[in-house]
Amino acid sequence: MQEAITVEKLIERMRQYNPNVDISSVVRAYEHCKKAHSAQTRNSGEPFYIHPLEVAYILAEMELDTESVIAGLLHDVIEDTSVNYDDLKQEFGENVAALVEGVTKLEKIKYTSKEEQQVENLRKMFFAMAKDIRVILIKLADRLHNMRTMRSMTAEKQREKSRETLEVYAPLAHRLGISKIKCELEDLSLRYLDNVAFYEIAEGLNQKKSEREEYVNLIRDTLSDRMQALGINAAIEGRAKHIYSIYRKMYTQGKTLDEIYDLFAVRVIVDTVADCYTTLGMVHEQYKPIPGRFKDYIAMPKPNMYQSLHTTLIGPSGQPFEVQIRTHEMHHVAESGVAAHWKYKEGLNSSEAADEKLAWVREMLDIQSEVTDSEEFMQTLKIDLFADEVFVFTPRGDVVSLPQGATPVDFAFYIHSAVGYRMMGAKANSRIVPLDYKLQNGDIVEILTTSAVHGPSKDWLKIVKTSQARNKINSWFKKENREANIARGKESIDHELKRIGYTASDLITPHSTEQMLRRYGFNSLDDMYSAVGYGGITAAKVVMRLREQYLQAHNAPEAANAHVAQRRVKKGSGNIEVEGIDNCLIRLSRCCTPVPGDKIIGFITRGRGVSIHRADCINIAPEKLTPEMQQRMIRCSWIETEQSTAYTGELRIDCANRNGILADITAAIAASNVTLVACNARTNKDRAAAITARVEVESKQQLEELAKKIHHVPGVFEIKRI
Ligand code: MN
Repeated sequence: MQEAITVEKLIERMRQYNPNVDISSVVRAYEHCKKAHSAQTRNSGEPFYIHPLEVAYILAEMELDTESVIAGLLHDVIEDTSVNYDDLKQEFGENVAALVEGVTKLEKIKYTSKEEQQVENLRKMFFAMAKDIRVILIKLADRLHNMRTMRSMTAEKQREKSRETLEVYAPLAHRLGISKIKCELEDLSLRYLDNVAFYEIAEGLNQKKSEREEYVNLIRDTLSDRMQALGINAAIEGRAKHIYSIYRKMYTQGKTLDEIYDLFAVRVIVDTVADCYTTLGMVHEQYKPIPGRFKDYIAMPKPNMYQSLHTTLIGPSGQPFEVQIRTHEMHHVAESGVAAHWKYKEGLNSSEAADEKLAWVREMLDIQSEVTDSEEFMQTLKIDLFADEVFVFTPRGDVVSLPQGATPVDFAFYIHSAVGYRMMGAKANSRIVPLDYKLQNGDIVEILTTSAVHGPSKDWLKIVKTSQARNKINSWFKKENREANIARGKESIDHELKRIGYTASDLITPHSTEQMLRRYGFNSLDDMYSAVGYGGITAAKVVMRLREQYLQAHNAPEAANAHVAQRRVKKGSGNIEVEGIDNCLIRLSRCCTPVPGDKIIGFITRGRGVSIHRADCINIAPEKLTPEMQQRMIRCSWIETEQSTAYTGELRIDCANRNGILADITAAIAASNVTLVACNARTNKDRAAAITARVEVESKQQLEELAKKIHHVPGVFEIKRI
């Protein structure tokens, strides 16, 4: 356990980088914080004020300005106590109050496990809401201290916080170039998320510690002698790789601890850029470099402005090691990133230098804003990175990015044109808002719709911001589009009918359509086609309803059969015998996609014939069914035929996310003379990918042979039927 921080220590640390720090204001903030939180304790039982004090100390270690440190002391008072913005403004001035309020606002951003794109939007949302980069720095310090002190939380809470930290906060720290905080956040998260691996790696590193140190010392001494001979002033140190980065390498590249090159690393810090290159030349002379491992991040900085020369060499005992060469300035930036520029600096060097740093931040964060005054830059740089965007949540928690000034109507059309065409109102954060309400960052937006498609109002054209919404509204009103929509709608309905084995004349009868039109509020059949054409309703939905009508009218399943079942032979469900029932409507279930050769069983549905499942399908497992449903299970078997028929089978392929793997898999499928009907690939965090492939095969045997072939594709771990 590290020693507790006191306000005296905090001040002492601040004085190290700012001898003239306004001690009284820091003490005043500390007293204020202690008083405001006096009634609270943390989960661990210690008084609450310890937390803001530690957060302030982390900020002081980043050598940030006094306002940031004071705001760190006060960061939880608006959220947790009766103190408000005006109180803070009066006590500590507008800047501190704004910082605290900014941190409080970020609390609104709730995280639930998300896809990559969503997480990226979530990170952008942080920037958009923070307005001042210092707000994010305080938030990172807050999260860091919370992560350090999670021991008394439930395991579930620990994992939840760790996942959020790994996906949102550590990448934020990385984006801002603050590698020190990024690494600590990652290691703390890993400890809770994969405890076993964490300690395995820590233990492994520990065992090799003395071996490593000896080796590094040997290299250091050699380099040190050569540097001296060259007359270059250099600090040489061994470098420890953090556990999480080792973990990632081990698990994504399937390496063991011994196979990771840069476990052994030496960092050389010199005075000038010229010295960096001279040193590089000397190092390459001394040891044999491994080809392809040299990287010049000085000429080509990383997006977060990290600069260094990296090279990997063969060491004295044949063990490879990495050397990083950089200047002191680069080193500071590598550790502290953007914080390096919020550092307190007594009397800014020159406005020129500050401008250069501003350019640095702007480039790093991809900003184009115009801030010229350097004082203003240091004190109150506002981050308008995403000034032209607003980030809001769907009720499900997905983040949607829209242009600044967008309204609920834009949101509705962003979600789906069908939502827009049915929209009658909107809520933001559970309160009804007018349709021309300007969405705010962090709003949870919900669109109220009617079941009938009534179409948009012309007035909406005046309040929408996105061209997507404008185009959809316009197309609704464009008469000439109607013909095209009707044609397109007809086409998709025909296509859908064909897919399920019917023709238009089967299902589109005056009787069946009458109900349909009434139900959705269409005036004519053409209205219905047109709605399908512009996407107001899907063809699948229309066809499903039509088929229901049809089956009801024909008293299905028994009556409907003869011609349906016959037609279905070609579609791959007719070669099945259902015990005791002739000539019934048979459907292969989509959940388990049985193919000839599989053990199968039937389930008599209500009005949709018999659905055929694989005997081991989890959806018909006895424990999932009521006794009444179990009664409806019926024995089935495949009938041997000469006729070749295509059946749909589905495979799930777990594989490494390497370049070209999808192409290799589809090539394997094509080489097996199997038709690929659909394919869906997703990648996950561990750099692995899950691919589902729907194929047409004639038998289980053919599907199994295909699976074997795919398994031979390099990088495929596992392959299963769905
Ligand atoms: Mn806090």
